Parts: sequence; structure tokens; C-alpha cells
Amino acid sequence: MLCHALKLYIPDLWSAKAHTQSFQNTRSGYLRSRISLLCIVWAVLIIAWIPFDFFYLKTGEDTRIASARLVLALFLIGIAKVNETHTTLRQSQWCMTLLVLGLNLFYIYCIWVLGFPKVYSGFEYGYTLLPILHVAILTILPITLKESLCLLAFTAVTEITVDLQTGTVLMPETLANYWLQNVLAIVVIWSQLSKLYMLMRLYRQATLDPLTGIYNRRMLLQQAQKAMENCQAKRQPFSLLLFDIDRFKRINDTWGHGVGDKVLRGFANHLQLASRKTDLFGRYGGEEFILCLPCCDTLTAQKIADRMLADIRSLKLPTDIEETHVSITACIGIATFTSGDSLMTMIDRADRALYECKDAGRDCYRFHPYGYQYRDRRKPLEAVVEANSEA
Ligand code: GH3
Ligand code: MG
Ligand code: MG
Repeated sequence: MLCHALKLYIPDLWSAKAHTQSFQNTRSGYLRSRISLLCIVWAVLIIAWIPFDFFYLKTGEDTRIASARLVLALFLIGIAKVNETHTTLRQSQWCMTLLVLGLNLFYIYCIWVLGFPKVYSGFEYGYTLLPILHVAILTILPITLKESLCLLAFTAVTEITVDLQTGTVLMPETLANYWLQNVLAIVVIWSQLSKLYMLMRLYRQATLDPLTGIYNRRMLLQQAQKAMENCQAKRQPFSLLLFDIDRFKRINDTWGHGVGDKVLRGFANHLQLASRKTDLFGRYGGEEFILCLPCCDTLTAQKIADRMLADIRSLKLPTDIEETHVSITACIGIATFTSGDSLMTMIDRADRALYECKDAGRDCYRFHPYGYQYRDRRKPLEAVVEANSEA
């Protein structure tokens, strides 16, 4: 069970390339707050140590290291500030890299000021522990294995370079230190991947429909809103297709809800595969689905709807009985963005068009032109009663 779950997640745990754009954005926001906090806390701690340096280090060494501490603190505050304004994952990765790079340069500088000693005495010994801290602090970041190995490699290369310079690289104490560092790195990676895994699971639960595995209503509407605004800003067309399976109640009544669920899964998976990478497909509710088509005008949307209807007609969806299949048809209501539209008015127009399809005998599509008033079959009952009594 655990192996199966891990197998499903291995590409996602290895590299961010396997993540969807929306998950990348979510993780980037999560990383942003952690990187900023880490930078600020580290900047404060690095300055708080200055009085101890003045007290315990030789004159000359203390002022040089204190200056380096100030520079590093300013650098970290700078990263925190830049980090606050970024939006993409790539920018988060850059901030993490700069953070680790800054810390390692500070370590090299301190050891250089101390004269690359072979044996550290008393207070100076504390400086040899910096690489361990640089590995340990990364534990709070939910990053992929690839990102983690890249960041840890910076500290490893820095430490080996310093040890080569001091000529202690093969000394038993150094080897013991490397061993400890590696064990710590494994624990850190474990913790990072657990955080990433948890984040991914929560994200999937919050955004995907549990039955079909496609976007749920909340995620669909959120992403569709963004896609619509994007097209609006670029003055590109944006169309929306609302699907409703025909006489779906009959399938439930004839074959049971289990088969009904299977039909919904098969239908959703098929349409997901049939849509372009740039399209957005999700479950709007029950047996109603929405396909958003960025950069698609009415004519293209109608062609796509026609092709999809033919596709749906040819589907053979499995039932519980071997070699028995269910065939379905669907109706599609189409709306294309017109100035003055919002996502909800577009969905409402597509819904009205859908009712026209049902009236026209099903298994067809209809387009709802902006401003056109279809006869509204969805009036509340009281309104109909009122209208009848007035007549
Ligand atoms: P029409 O052609 O007019 O659309 O007829 P219809 O029977 O499809 O009518 P309607 O769209 O109102 O019915 C939707 C049905 O879908 C009702 C409900 O029982 C069923 N349904 C909704 N969600 C699920 C689900 O998750 N699983 C199953 N098995 N059925 C569902
Ligand atoms: Mg319906
Ligand atoms: Mg239906």
C-alpha cells in the first residue's frame, strides 16, 4: 500500500518538472514565507553573536568577522525583501540558492580570517560547526529531492574545499565529521520529502474530485477565472463548454450507482485526454462538466463541441457484467466571452444553451449569443404559478 502510494508520487518527489503549474504556484507561496522567515531569523542570530566574537577572538579577527556578519545580515534581509515580491517557483529556487551561497561564503571567509587552522581551540571551534547548521536549517523547506541535493552540494563542496586548504581532509576527525554530516543530510532530506509529500496530498484532496480525479468545482472555477482574465488582458477569445450527460438517472436506475460512478469516471478520463494541455477541464457538479477553451472563438468552440459529441457517442463504458458496455450521449452548452461577461454569467449562458439542447432532443450542442434571451425553463416554481394566475 505504502509502496504503491510512493510509486505514484516518486516523479513528484524527485523534480518540480512533474508538478502542475497550479501546484508549483501553491508551493512557491509556501516556500516564500519560509525562506523569508529563515533569512530574518538567521540575520538576527548572526548579528547577536558579534559581542561574543569581540570578547573571545583575537583583535583584528573580531572586527573583520563582525563586518562579515553585518554584510551577511544585510544580504539575508535583501533576499527576504526580494523574496516577498516574487511569484514563481523559479524565483523561490533562486532565493534558496542565494541563501545557501551567502552562508557558505561567510563560512569560507571566517575560516580564512582564522587562518585555516589545522586544530581549532576553544571559541574558534564553534566556527567548524557552521556547515552542520547550514544543512540542518534546510529541514523546514518542502523541496524536491533534486532541489535538496543541489542545495546540500553547495555546503559539501565548501566544506571539502576548506578541509583541502587546511590539509585535514583525510584526518579521522574530519572523516567522522563527514559521516555525521551525511547522516544529518539524510534526516534533512527525509524531513523535506515528508513535508512535500504531505503538501501534495493535501493539495490533491483540496483540488481534485475524489470520484473522477479531475479538478473539483472550486479549483475549476478558480483556474477558469484566471484563464478568463488572462485572455481578456491579452484580448484573446475565451470559450466555455458545459457538458451534461443525457438521461443519466436511467443509467443509475438500470445498472445501479456503482456503474453510474464508473460511467462518470470513464467519461471524465476520456474528455480529459481529448482536451488540449492548455484547456481546463473539471467536474462542475453531479454529471455536469466544464471545459474552458482559452484562445478559442465561437466557431472553433462549436467545432470542438461537435468533435467531442461524436467522441462521446463512440465511447463504450464498462459495466459490472463482463463484455457489457454502456453507451452515452451528452449535451453541450457553449458561451464565448463578450465584454461585460463574468465567469458566472458565462456559465449561466452555457447552462441556458444546455436547456435548449435538452428541448431539442439531446445529443447536440447549442451556442448562447450574448444578450440573447432564451425562454427560461428554470424559473422558480412560485414565479411560474404567479405568471399563470396573472394570465
Ligand atoms: P437529462 O438528460 O435531462 O440531463 O436527464 P438526467 O437523467 O441526466 O437528469 P439530471 O441531469 O437532472 O440527473 C443527474 C443525475 O445524476 C441525478 C443523480 O442521481 C446523478 N448523479 C449525480 N452525481 C452522481 C454521482 O456522483 N454518481 C452517480 N452514480 N450518480 C450521480
Ligand atoms: Mg444534470
Ligand atoms: Mg443529465
